[in-house]
Amino acid sequence: MSLTDELYRETILDHYHNPRNRGQLEAPAVKVEGINPLCGDELTLYLTVADGKIDDVKLEAKGCSINMASGSMMSELVHGHSIEEARKVIDTFKQMMLNKNAEIELPEELEDLEALQGVKKYPVRIKCALLPWNTLLEGIETALAGNTTSTVTEK
Ligand code: ZN
Repeated sequence: MSLTDELYRETILDHYHNPRNRGQLEAPAVKVEGINPLCGDELTLYLTVADGKIDDVKLEAKGCSINMASGSMMSELVHGHSIEEARKVIDTFKQMMLNKNAEIELPEELEDLEALQGVKKYPVRIKCALLPWNTLLEGIETALAGNTTSTVTEK
């Protein structure tokens, strides 16, 4: 294992063992269930949006370490940020995960996410990494539509 792989592994394990923003938010917060049947990952995301900003975000994730680490990183990166910024991070992350050939250089504030790039070697696990982000996207859409609950299933 190279030094980079080792650092990536450490980052993923850190988020897996010490998940950030873990928990629930009371209604009227938006609540979105994300499911990845291929791996058995489940995630419940809670979100409040105020003044075009993700005011608060909490999540409870079950399943594999990739799903849990990715969810923890996601919550840390979008908490307190504008919806516009959150959409940009979602786009960047999806591009990184779905672009098979290129290693994508991320801006410094997103560097934890690079740890998940190794997952691209295991195509079946890419959905584990994407689930929290697709759930967040659905959460944003749900909040903007004035609704409070929704579900996302990775196919
Ligand atoms: Zn998984």
